[in-house]
Amino acid sequence: MSNIDWKSLPFGYLKTDYNLRCYFKNGQWGDLEVSADENLNIHMASTCLHYGQEAFEGMKAFRGIDGKVRLFRPEENGKRLELSANGVMMQPVPVELFVEACKKVVKLNERFVPPYGEGASLYLRPMLIGVGPQVGVKASAEYMFAVFVTPVGPYFKEGFNPIKVQIVRDYDRAAPLGTGTFKVGGNYAASLAAIDRGHKEGYSSVLFLDAKEKKYIDEAGPANFFGIKNNTYVTPDSHTILRSITNMSLRELAADMGLKVELRSIPIEELDTFEEVGACGTAAVISPIGSITDRETGKVYEYCKDGKAGKISTQLYERLRAIQEGEMEDKFGWNVIV
Ligand SMILES: *Cc1c(COP(=O)(O)O)cnc(C)c1O
Repeated sequence: MSNIDWKSLPFGYLKTDYNLRCYFKNGQWGDLEVSADENLNIHMASTCLHYGQEAFEGMKAFRGIDGKVRLFRPEENGKRLELSANGVMMQPVPVELFVEACKKVVKLNERFVPPYGEGASLYLRPMLIGVGPQVGVKASAEYMFAVFVTPVGPYFKEGFNPIKVQIVRDYDRAAPLGTGTFKVGGNYAASLAAIDRGHKEGYSSVLFLDAKEKKYIDEAGPANFFGIKNNTYVTPDSHTILRSITNMSLRELAADMGLKVELRSIPIEELDTFEEVGACGTAAVISPIGSITDRETGKVYEYCKDGKAGKISTQLYERLRAIQEGEMEDKFGWNVIV
């Protein structure tokens, strides 16, 4: 076992034993190679470094109550990486290869999968980058698919407690016909300044609006947004947001709990009518939102007036966590045992 204080793990990088790499060259994927080196040796003219040919994924492996290690819906991440790859003209990684790599990298680093019940997990970061040298603006002919892992604690230091977020209007994360729906580094680069300013102003995250009209809620920083009212789970239907697998799973759980599910535009004024709002994604599962401040108008929308997460958000969070940790029957068949 490792000498790790699982309870105080940050959401950060910790060195593990192994990572995997696989190269696409001469028109085909090679074998999965195991490496103990944390560094990549790539050509300085690689397209990932200049023209943003880069996409990544994020998912978690959990140690269950029964001691088994479970990956949550890895094929969905594999399919999404395929979409992202096509979105920035990269060679897609076959989904079977993707899932095989995820299982293998977890097995190789099994001693870093946190014990059950610590609120910690093993985070997987699969990535695909263009590594062929290219100076003219065009797609690379060579790619590297790599997966590393790192044990992580909760994403927000507040844990499952309401966070404060800020609506920003002077930054956009993604253009209406841009790459917002792909999990590519460029979207993150475009969001860093707004998020950093938000942190400095005392907020855990920011809400981006639709870039065209600035009328609708788009993305909650690096997470999807949802609201709950009248027994209905509402989440934006926008082609500039990233299709969160957590959000997709929460919609299925909500429907299963008897809630109505609506995938549609959410005008800003509707924020006044929600009983609960939150952000969702692999990192935090659900981050309940306690208040939303519109940076420009100064208007504040408040939720969780008792300082606690709402009832339905809590139930959704608990169910998803219980499935991931093997406490509740996995009736949707989401877990892949490693
Ligand atoms: C990864 C990501 C999410 C969350 O997706 P999950 O599949 O739930 O982890 C949401 N928004 C953005 C912008 C992301 O990059």
